[in-house]
Amino acid sequence: MPGAEGGRVVVVGASLGGLRAAEQLRAAGHTGEVTVIGDEPHPPYNRPPLSKEVLAAEVSFDRVAFRMRAGVADVGWRLGTAVTAADLAARTVRLADGTEIAYDALVIATGLRPRRLAVPGTGPSRHVVRTLDDAAALRARLRPGTRLAVVGAGFIGCEVAATARTLGADVTVVAPESEPMLRPLGPDLGAELRRRHGERGVRFLLGRTIARFTGDGLELSDGSAVPADVVVEAVGSVPCVEWLEGNGLDLSDGVLCDGALRVEGRPEVVAVGDVARFPNPRYDDVPRRVEHWSIPTDTAKHAARTLLGQDVGPFMPLPSFWSDQYGMRLQSFGAPNLGDGDIRVLEGDLGGEVVLGYHRDGRLVGVVMIGCTRSQVGYRKRLLDDVRTPTS
Ligand code: FAD
Repeated sequence: MPGAEGGRVVVVGASLGGLRAAEQLRAAGHTGEVTVIGDEPHPPYNRPPLSKEVLAAEVSFDRVAFRMRAGVADVGWRLGTAVTAADLAARTVRLADGTEIAYDALVIATGLRPRRLAVPGTGPSRHVVRTLDDAAALRARLRPGTRLAVVGAGFIGCEVAATARTLGADVTVVAPESEPMLRPLGPDLGAELRRRHGERGVRFLLGRTIARFTGDGLELSDGSAVPADVVVEAVGSVPCVEWLEGNGLDLSDGVLCDGALRVEGRPEVVAVGDVARFPNPRYDDVPRRVEHWSIPTDTAKHAARTLLGQDVGPFMPLPSFWSDQYGMRLQSFGAPNLGDGDIRVLEGDLGGEVVLGYHRDGRLVGVVMIGCTRSQVGYRKRLLDDVRTPTS
C-alpha cells in the first residue's frame, strides 16, 4: 500500500463514508484485511431520516440500516469503540480501551458532531440531532403542545421544525440570519421557505442570538423571552479530528486532502465524507468540506483507488443534496453556495414549483428546485457537462 492489493486497511468511522470505503476497496480489488472501527454501537445507518421519518415516529433499525453488500461480508467491524489517537509515522491507531492496531493504509471517515451552544443557564431539555440515539431522545419529548425552540435555521433546524409541527408541537425557530437557510439558498428562496413554514404555524425570530437559558426557556440577545420545554441546538457541526492531533496535519477545518483525497505527506492515508476537505476542480482549487449525503460515496470511490495506486483521473464530483419539509422536496445539484449572489429563476415561480439557478461570474454553478421533478435530469446533466477549463 499504496499500490498493493494486500495489506491491512483500517477505516475509522463506521457510517456512510466508512461503509462505502470498505465496499469500494473490495470493488477495486483489495484482497487484504479491512477493519472498520466506529464509536457508535450500531452498524452503519442512514442519517437523513433522523430529522424526518425517525423523528416523526418510532421506526425499526432495519428501516435505516444500510444494506451490507456481499462484497463486505469479510470486513471486520469494531463497533462501540472510539479511536482516541493515531501515530501516522508508526502506522498505528489506539482505541479507547488501550488496544493498538497497526495498518498499512488508513481511511479517515469520522464525520462531524453537532456544535453546542456556549451560553449560560439551565432550564429546558437540550437536544441535538446527529445520531439515532439523539433522534430517539428528542422524539420522546415531542407531544402535541410541547413548546419547542429550535436554535439555528439551517437545513437540520428547519427539518426538525417541520417534523415537530406535524407532531403538533408549538415551534419557534431562533437564528442570527435574516432568513432561514440563507447561506446555501439566498434571500428570496429563504424568505419563501419562511413563508411556507409560517403558513404551518412555525414562528421565526431572526436576527437574534441566545443570551442564556432560563427556568422557562430562552432569553434572546434583544432581551425577549422564548418560553420552551425543549430546545434543539442546530447550529452547525464540528469535524471529529481530535484523534489525529500531534501528526502535523492541517486539521483547521476537517482533514486537508489533495485532489486524490490523500492526506498531505502521507500516501497511505486518505479521508472521505463530511470530514474530508478537498479541492474540486469543477469549481476552483480551494479545498472545502461538503456536508451532503452524496459525498461519502463519491469520495470513497476515488479514495479507494488512490490507496490502490489506480489512476482514475481528476476528482470532481457534482455535489447534490435534498431536504424534505412538510412533504415538499427541495433538491439541489452543484454548488449553489459558491454563487456570487446572481440568482435567477430558471423555471416556474417562487410561490409554487420553481428552479433557481446560482451563478458565479455568469456561469451556472448550482440549481435548487422545488418540484419540477421532470426537469431534474436535464439540469443535472447541464451541470455535469460544464467542466471548468483553466480559462473559464
Ligand atoms: P458521519 O455520518 O458523521 O459518520 C462518522 C462516524 O464516525 C460516526 O458514526 C461517528 O460517531 C464516528 N466517529 C467519530 N469520531 C470517531 C472516533 N474517534 N472513533 C471512532 N468513530 C468515530 N444530507 C443530504 O444530502 N440530505 C439530507 O436530507 C440530509 N439530512 C440529514 C439529516 C441529519 C439529521 C443529519 C445529521 C445529516 C443529514 N445529511 C443529509 C447529511 C448526511 O447524512 C451526511 O453527509 C453523511 O452522514 C456523512 O457521512 P460520513 O460517514 O462522512 O460521516
